Amino acid sequence: MKSNEDGTFSNGALVPFGTIQIEPHSSVLNYGQGLFEGMKAYRRPDGEVQLFRPEENALRMQRGAERLLMVAPSVEQYTEAVKQVVAANKSWVPPYGKGALYIRPLLFGSGSVMGIAPAPECTFLIYANPICNVYKGRTSALNLLIDDRLPRAFPGGTGGVKNIGNYSPVFEVTKEAKAKGFSDVLFLDAMQRKYVEEVSSCNAFIVKGNVITTSPTLGTILPGITRNSIMQLGRDLGFQVEERKFSVDELLEADEVFCTGTAVGISEVGSVTYKKNRVEFKTGRDTVTQKLYDFITGIQTGVLEDQRGWVVKID
Ligand code: PMP
Repeated sequence: MKSNEDGTFSNGALVPFGTIQIEPHSSVLNYGQGLFEGMKAYRRPDGEVQLFRPEENALRMQRGAERLLMVAPSVEQYTEAVKQVVAANKSWVPPYGKGALYIRPLLFGSGSVMGIAPAPECTFLIYANPICNVYKGRTSALNLLIDDRLPRAFPGGTGGVKNIGNYSPVFEVTKEAKAKGFSDVLFLDAMQRKYVEEVSSCNAFIVKGNVITTSPTLGTILPGITRNSIMQLGRDLGFQVEERKFSVDELLEADEVFCTGTAVGISEVGSVTYKKNRVEFKTGRDTVTQKLYDFITGIQTGVLEDQRGWVVKID
């Protein structure tokens, strides 16, 4: 759907997946004025399909739109559109326990604009495809490389929103790390290259004893919806959850390290390599990471009771 002159969106249409037309002078192609979201539709054991906290994705897109001077659909419009796309693709949601339907809402400056300026019109579209967890879920622990040559985000930049332009600047270091056999790169803060920030598509946590810690987002880290959920669920399970800066040294001393994200789920980290020094962490079934994984996955897939009203069923 395209925005109207008054900055609202009219109801869109469901169309078969295919190519779209876009103006060559649109601001998304020229200036990266675009945002995306990542969501999943899960199959419950009873065969029904449900979403997890879709309003949070809508709100995050609105915050991103504000940062990039775009208009965004309302929370109701966003959620309704996602529900319609999932309902129309229900048969593509994998069976319970076999993955999920991944949903990609996009918002971008699509009207013609000459000169470096925000677009007069925005397009909101959603596509979906079935996937497994990006990092194979819990079947293999990640081995991450801390590459301190390049941060993922700078203070005052757009690291705190899902701007499309945040991702390609780290393709090079990530590709290099993967070619050396690492699963991904863990990035440090831009100013001191000392504090742990996040991976290019997921948030990072450490566990030491009964304490679970994640970095504050502070405009350079994406406020992950899985991250927020894990912080709440961790407290429910009786852990102490802290949101504060932590250094690489502290991470290397942790008992467990794990990453969170819609696409990656809760992925345990088996090792982190920093300045050629490889440190291993506890993995497997008897871990805090496993408890958190079981708790959130249980809610997302309808196995455990959703006490917070996080789940939205698709009719
Ligand atoms: N950080 C970054 C940079 C991401 O792209 C994502 C994926 N959206 C996340 C963290 C995890 O966020 P969420 O839990 O909302 O998927």
